[in-house]
Amino acid sequence: MDIRVNIERLKRDLEELGRIGRDERGGVSRPSFSAADLEARLWLKKKMEEAGLCYRQDGAGNQFGRLECAGKTVMAGSHIDTVPNGGMYDGAVGVLAALEAARRILEEKVPLAKAVEVASFTDEEGNLVGDFLGSRAFMGLLDENEVRKGRTSFGVLFSDVLKMAGFTADGILGARKDRPALDAYVELHIEQGPVLEDEGVPIGVVERIAGKHYRQCAYVGESGHAGTTPLELRHDAFLGLADLALRATQLVATRHYGSVLTVGKAALHPGSFSVIPGRVDFTLEFRSVSAESMAAIEDDVFTLAEDIAATRGLAFVSKLVDKTAPVTIAPRLTGLIEEECKALDYRSMRMTSGAGHDAQILAGACDSGMIFIPSPDGVSHAPGERVDWDDLEKGANVLLRTIIRLASQEGAKP
Ligand SMILES: [Zn+2]
Repeated sequence: MDIRVNIERLKRDLEELGRIGRDERGGVSRPSFSAADLEARLWLKKKMEEAGLCYRQDGAGNQFGRLECAGKTVMAGSHIDTVPNGGMYDGAVGVLAALEAARRILEEKVPLAKAVEVASFTDEEGNLVGDFLGSRAFMGLLDENEVRKGRTSFGVLFSDVLKMAGFTADGILGARKDRPALDAYVELHIEQGPVLEDEGVPIGVVERIAGKHYRQCAYVGESGHAGTTPLELRHDAFLGLADLALRATQLVATRHYGSVLTVGKAALHPGSFSVIPGRVDFTLEFRSVSAESMAAIEDDVFTLAEDIAATRGLAFVSKLVDKTAPVTIAPRLTGLIEEECKALDYRSMRMTSGAGHDAQILAGACDSGMIFIPSPDGVSHAPGERVDWDDLEKGANVLLRTIIRLASQEGAKP
């Protein structure tokens, strides 16, 4: 059966959803449980029902559209929340291509041996309390304290946001019990980087997803007059950070090539041009596709941070904010996705994902795979985020055929 997606319909869906939460700065602002997100949720529910799928929402606000069948569930999806003033394709592509695939399966009356479920997970972007709220709830991985007492990145109590959006802490913590027995999860996503475009290849078959370690840190020294305190008597907290940022990056680049480390945010205190910084608060984040490298970087960087503190007469403090493990995609999924690329005569290449995705959380419950399409100019999480419709059509076709392969009788090909 030479089954393909209806790209015009998929394009219309993406453009319709992209109009919900339009930001005057040019992008889309649709963080989970915002007014725009609640509107988008109703839109998605209607689309799933119109497609003939059996709709449900769990206690964490994860939305599902199901094609019922005996046997385990083959799930495909992503997320529809965005970062503030983000793009209209990150996440939306994966949910709406999965929806389009389910429609085509119904229209062509493809015989299934397993249930197929389209999924849209809440707050993948981590605007509320840590990344992957919805998929972590789905997996039963949430920290109760974080849900009941945590504050969102906007500074308000998470429980207040929940109340306003019509959800409850108990509902979120109980979401796991609605999880069906899963056979596999597949997610189509924009690459969010420049590799596929550089290589001129339309499909990326993700082999590994990087893990992430994210900490809130501080160096504490001593403030003093910038004119009267001699350099050798200073305990300048900012110089500690400057030293650490440079040397930790060099260390990762030389000893853990391919891994990355970033200081993304720093605040100097008291923050005056004529006062030596007595304290600097900063974030420290590193990512790697290797669990051994993650552990080694952690050791190396914290030894370095303490050494610098000792040399400069500072105190180093740090608190873990978030930690996810790297994931290796099951070979049966990478193999199957590659076979379908070949059958469709699309070029593909294996690659790693430096960004985190719901797929890596779902990997704790079943084989979990990802299909990437190019991000023009590597732009993502910004108003300039785009897709080439030809690439999207290819990616959605590969997703459709991968779902059919997974949900059909063993060995049956679309
Ligand atoms: Zn995403």
